[in-house]
Amino acid sequence: MQDHLEVYIQHASKQPVSIAPWLKHRHKPRIGAEWMFLRRGVGASNHFEAGGFVRSNDRVDYPNLMFHFLPIAIRYDGSKPAGGEENGGHGYQVHIGPMYSDVRGSLKIRSRDPREHPALRFNYLSTENDRREWIEMVRAARDILEQPAFSAFSAGEISPGPGVQTDQEILDWVAQDAETALHPSCTAKMGTDDASVVDPATMRVHGTQGLRVVDASVFPYVTNGNIYAPVMMVAEKAADLIAGNTPLAPLDVPFYRHGTGMPLWPEGDPRNAAPVPGTVRADAEPS
Ligand SMILES: Cc1cc2nc3c(=O)[nH]c(=O)nc-3n(C[C@H](O)[C@H](O)[C@H](O)COP(=O)(O)OP(=O)(O)OC[C@H]3O[C@@H](n4cnc5c(N)ncnc54)[C@H](O)[C@@H]3O)c2cc1C
Repeated sequence: MQDHLEVYIQHASKQPVSIAPWLKHRHKPRIGAEWMFLRRGVGASNHFEAGGFVRSNDRVDYPNLMFHFLPIAIRYDGSKPAGGEENGGHGYQVHIGPMYSDVRGSLKIRSRDPREHPALRFNYLSTENDRREWIEMVRAARDILEQPAFSAFSAGEISPGPGVQTDQEILDWVAQDAETALHPSCTAKMGTDDASVVDPATMRVHGTQGLRVVDASVFPYVTNGNIYAPVMMVAEKAADLIAGNTPLAPLDVPFYRHGTGMPLWPEGDPRNAAPVPGTVRADAEPS
């Protein structure tokens, strides 16, 4: 099993530019009505309007960290707004998490009774590589948020705050503060090797009859970003396979790659830039 874990780096804002005032109960009827009848207003957005991907180190060829910017400082479940009274509650935050962690968890069926929940063990922060990426990530996020462009807005970091500086302090804070990005997946991976569960040509579970799996559990490894769109892609292809239609042919779509052997365009395409030696694939199987 795999998942994406994430934290928020929160800043108070000295300018009244966040959506914090809209949290007041008295605004809720207006937000609801605007969205329902006019399809606009604060309720028409999930407010994750800006995002980005960066490489946390030079050993990965394409970004291994995902950022989302939110124009309010608040927990993912809407609790604990944290802008600070003196700033009128205004704040902002970035959500960040490593996308290609080499951590592996497990899902175990505990009982023959289907009503009994299975045991989920995520094993977050359990590998050296993962812990290193978390430290790199918090430092990268702070580096971005402390750029001069933010100085007109930042009234200081609220979370984790200046008390968290050393590698160990960062890891302790992550262990305490991080939340799942709600991307558990990969418990029944597609493939043809001994460790695989689902046949990618039919979506049938190996060794069984009349049982197919089509969901996030069939990913061989978690995707390098949010997983809903990839789930839909798996579902579209599986629908073709199950209906007996010929699935669409794979496309060679260019995407940014930094190093040797990972050109932007398909192999042999003259548009590829000169290779940069000494890098490894970000999606290489963990050793
Ligand atoms: C709060 C939240 C926010 C998220 N935000 C994002 C996001 O912004 N971007 C993103 O990419 N991903 C997001 N995700 C993750 C994404 O939604 C999931 O990874 C994705 O929906 C998983 O798809 P799935 O088909 O594997 O499972 P699900 O979407 O969970 O589908 C499982 C289905 O099985 C049904 N089911 C369960 N048990 C039974 C049963 N016994 N019999 C019949 N049916 C059953 C359920 O009702 C459900 O419809 C979010 C997830 C959550 C929970």
